[in-house]
Amino acid sequence: MDSCGRSQRRVLPESASRAQQTLPPRLSRVNGWSKPLHGYQAVSWAMFVTLALAMFGIFIPMLPGMWKNIVYGVSGGMLLFHVIVYLVCVSIDPGEDNVRRKKIYSEPVPTFDRSKHLHVIEDLYCCLCRVTVSEKAKHCRACNKCIAGFDHHCKWLNNCIGSRNYWWFFSSLTSALAWLLCVVSILLYIVIQHHVDPRVLRTDPHYQNITSQDTWLLFLPYFHLKAKTPVFVTIAVLVLVLDLISLLMIGQLFIFHLYLMSNGMSTYNYLNRSRRHSS
Ligand SMILES: [Zn+2]
Ligand SMILES: [Zn+2]
Repeated sequence: MDSCGRSQRRVLPESASRAQQTLPPRLSRVNGWSKPLHGYQAVSWAMFVTLALAMFGIFIPMLPGMWKNIVYGVSGGMLLFHVIVYLVCVSIDPGEDNVRRKKIYSEPVPTFDRSKHLHVIEDLYCCLCRVTVSEKAKHCRACNKCIAGFDHHCKWLNNCIGSRNYWWFFSSLTSALAWLLCVVSILLYIVIQHHVDPRVLRTDPHYQNITSQDTWLLFLPYFHLKAKTPVFVTIAVLVLVLDLISLLMIGQLFIFHLYLMSNGMSTYNYLNRSRRHSS
């Protein structure tokens, strides 16, 4: 403890290359909706909208009998849950209590002056936010404010992940993974059934007027967009590939966070430990 009664804690020294990148005065970001928005956000939204349109518009209507309604309900519920936890996670301000209480987001943050300070946070005081912070706080460069229980800055959510929104983040990850697994199961069933017995996929009443087995109806029951077998198969393969890529990315992130939790670490601790080992 120092003379002010504060425990001696400093953030880890930043590398020389990063030291030159002192931030210019600018506004702190509140949450994932604050500008600047990130390109990864748009990519993730486009990916989920494409998958949802393909599943609810093309593939689920092909399922036979009662299965169609069951899958509509289950996968629709899973996707709705994911969207809710995602929106909560993006909308939460992960800032430290003192930052949220005292900081005025409309005022520019001062530039970090290395001639006066070695570290942004010294003795649990942030010289940029100008507030005392808790032990696990870290000043995020992207958000330009101190984050409570800092874990990492997520470009996909365009928000910091800390103690205030970590479980929303993990729930978002888990629900996305569960929905993507549901999607891949439906797609694999359709692809296999298409080879085994395509008639099983043509039980919708709108197929009564279609004589050619080579013609498929997309976006039932509202639109009856006709497509030939090669087009239908191409869409199924493209959606399957998109789903598998998403599954791989989110799956490895999910396993990584399970590993961190089982070892009582944050992403920030893990990266610092890796840097120390490699140097
Ligand atoms: Zn700060
Ligand atoms: Zn951040």
